[in-house]
Amino acid sequence: MIADATQSGEDQDLAEIRRSVRALCEGFPGEYWRAADRDRAYPTAFVQALTEAGFLAALIPEEFGGSGLSLRAAAVIMEEIQANGCNGAACHAQMYIMNTILRHGSPAQKEKYLPRIASGALRLQAFGVTEPTSGTDTLSLRTTATRQGDKYIVNGQKIWTSRAEHSDLMLLLARTTPRDQVKKKSEGLSIFLVDMREAVGKGLTIRPIRTMMNHSTTEVFFDQLEVAAENLIGEEGQGFRYILSGMNAERILIAAECVGDAKWFIEKATGYAKERTLFNRPIGQNQGVQFPIAKAYAQMRAAELMVHEAARVYQAGGNVGAEANMAKMLAADASWAAGEACVQTFGGFGFAEEYDVERKFREARLYQVAPISTNMILSYISEHVLGMPRSY
Ligand SMILES: Cc1cc2nc3c(=O)[nH]c(=O)nc-3n(C[C@H](O)[C@H](O)[C@H](O)COP(=O)(O)OP(=O)(O)OC[C@H]3O[C@@H](n4cnc5c(N)ncnc54)[C@H](O)[C@@H]3O)c2cc1C
Repeated sequence: MIADATQSGEDQDLAEIRRSVRALCEGFPGEYWRAADRDRAYPTAFVQALTEAGFLAALIPEEFGGSGLSLRAAAVIMEEIQANGCNGAACHAQMYIMNTILRHGSPAQKEKYLPRIASGALRLQAFGVTEPTSGTDTLSLRTTATRQGDKYIVNGQKIWTSRAEHSDLMLLLARTTPRDQVKKKSEGLSIFLVDMREAVGKGLTIRPIRTMMNHSTTEVFFDQLEVAAENLIGEEGQGFRYILSGMNAERILIAAECVGDAKWFIEKATGYAKERTLFNRPIGQNQGVQFPIAKAYAQMRAAELMVHEAARVYQAGGNVGAEANMAKMLAADASWAAGEACVQTFGGFGFAEEYDVERKFREARLYQVAPISTNMILSYISEHVLGMPRSY
């Protein structure tokens, strides 16, 4: 295990969380993930074990049955999952989606949903934002929710709604006021909590999409779906603002996952480089093999510090947009560099299923694109941090 160089300064609680996550992950070795990957099966037992151990309720306050931990602690959980060869993408959304209910939900909504999400009785794993035509341009999304008495009628389509088949609830972003009728272009979108158990077959259709890695992602169709007006979260028309605040937590947690992936790749590559002997010496004695791994390690450490800084700013209640975005980009780049170094170090065996390297490599590639692609992060830094002209 690659040591966290800051561990000496880390408080005991975080060290204990790391140990517990590691112990849980030992029950889900490479064979478990290879079998799930082969069948594109959802890792139900793993998600169940995390839920029962309370890890997915880390951010839910104690008054609602969670452990009320900090974002830093939640990041440690996600990082350890990845560093131990598991895949938190099966359930990471449960950690942060509930934040929207916590921050913007009514007291009745919090009381109704949060304790049951914390106990695992209700799964909140699906997040319906992206659409096929609008993509990254969220303000152009076309799914509509039209108020009719005590209901909203939803029509439209989402894509890449991950885990929709393995979740009871979906947080949905839809347009409630036409774009040409709002004062500010960021207004007119609203968030709903859709109970998919009632909706499937009654206006909601879910179709799985097979992807290059095992991700349980889907496309979702809404055809005259009725959603009770009491399931609107916060104020109608303010949904985009709510979604943005939740996305910063998402970026920090996914950055922590990328740091964990980088640690996994670096440990694998280092171990193999020391043990594989060719030309009468370990391949790791060659600087051509050492340097890409050492460079990836330095990148990972820098990204790790930015994740810590982003979590600190988030917890202090500051505007964390810049740090969350930079953490996500640096960590995704570090994990990709580490993955590349790992495949190269393993040579041909890097492509063989049994070493898990190729699976992890496929899984790590996603984070250059989702939940936000590198170009959009660079645009954010250019405009909001450096003050250059808006490019789109
Ligand atoms: C496996 C998977 C799981 C996902 N899970 C979810 C989920 O659960 N919920 C959800 O809502 N979404 C999810 N997504 C969607 C994900 O967030 C988007 O794929 C991502 O934000 C990119 O959007 P897009 O695919 O529509 O690409 P597009 O927006 O079509 O962009 C295509 C490319 O063009 C670039 N580009 C676009 N505009 C600009 C510009 N102005 N300047 C420079 N470059 C630009 C982008 O960076 C990107 O590289 C998932 C995606 C995948 C692949």
